[in-house]
Amino acid sequence: MKRVLGERIAGDLVASGVSAVASSPEEMRRDRRANLHILFLLAVILAPLAYRHWSTGEWLPAAAALVLSAVFVANLWMILRRRSGFLSPPTVLLLTIPLVILSVMFGQEYSLFWMYPLMVAVPSILRTGAGMWLGAPCLMVVIPAVFLEFETGMALIMLVSMIHTLLVSWWLMRAVNQQSSRYRNLVIHDALTGAKNRRHFEEELASAFSLWQRHKRISALIMLDVDHFKAVNDELGHAAGDEVLKALVALIQERIRGADTVFRYGGEEFAILLPETTVSRALVLANELRDRVKTSHMLPERRVTISLGVCDPSVAESADDWLRQADAALYRAKAAGRDRAQQVASLVQLPEPLGDALPIWR
Ligand code: GH3
Ligand code: MG
Ligand code: MG
Repeated sequence: MKRVLGERIAGDLVASGVSAVASSPEEMRRDRRANLHILFLLAVILAPLAYRHWSTGEWLPAAAALVLSAVFVANLWMILRRRSGFLSPPTVLLLTIPLVILSVMFGQEYSLFWMYPLMVAVPSILRTGAGMWLGAPCLMVVIPAVFLEFETGMALIMLVSMIHTLLVSWWLMRAVNQQSSRYRNLVIHDALTGAKNRRHFEEELASAFSLWQRHKRISALIMLDVDHFKAVNDELGHAAGDEVLKALVALIQERIRGADTVFRYGGEEFAILLPETTVSRALVLANELRDRVKTSHMLPERRVTISLGVCDPSVAESADDWLRQADAALYRAKAAGRDRAQQVASLVQLPEPLGDALPIWR
């Protein structure tokens, strides 16, 4: 139970099954602070509320507020002592819902108080800034009303709690957004090399193919495989093989443009998708990459080379067929002796000077 609060928030609200993903220490500190703020907010609200209900003879909401405040104070105390509490913020918010009902049913003017903790939940659940933007104008309207309706001390407590709630909402929303973008990165990236993974490749290839089919927007696909990689592993060990794969992806990423993407297709086979690029341009890039890999001295002990196949969608009937043809070109390069690039001739004839005007690599 050493999971810290923000992780729980995101875990509860976004994807509880993936909560093993570690947060950075800085994020953990921030999430812990966020939870402390929620509990502080509730303590600030609950104590005067219990007192008010009590003094007007509304025993049920008064007792509920007292019990809950005791629970929240205990949670706060545990967080402060052990860096981890027993209630997650969503649970805290869930617990306040019956109290809202109780308060509205049996209480009178102070039932409005119960709405503020719920404001924390809305932006976290929506995962947008909408809660903030809705909350801020509400505050503007509510401020004069609060001072007209309540005595100054009470009105000040309400205002502090409302501003506080808005800030915590924004804070939680940021925590949840960061967590979900981390999950998304995990889902689309290959852990070893940092390239995008095969699942993402299939989606991107399909969308590039439909861009070609519908709008005749051309892209080029390069399939790339390390030559005799098994020998690298056998002679120098699996760890050296891993280093080659990482260095290869870094080298490719350094070379391609921002719009281009490198994917790990499997093992030591990679794909590069180049939007708005003709086969002849992609072949230039393929040969340059081949050259760079050969002269990069990734391993001091032996020279690493790659073979590549280049193809565009003009020759293909489907995304799968496009991939198959690029792969076939790659294996022709292997059969012809490796350390080379082969292309599938394109059916697209680009009129000059459009061919020249297409983007050139940096
Ligand atoms: P070719 O030139 O025909 O491509 O020969 P090759 O030896 O590269 O091809 P083969 O398919 O026989 O071997 C691929 C090797 O890649 C076998 C496998 O153990 C290794 N491999 C696959 N994934 C990884 C990985 O993540 N790390 C390491 N170190 N090796 C891997
Ligand atoms: Mg290979
Ligand atoms: Mg292979």
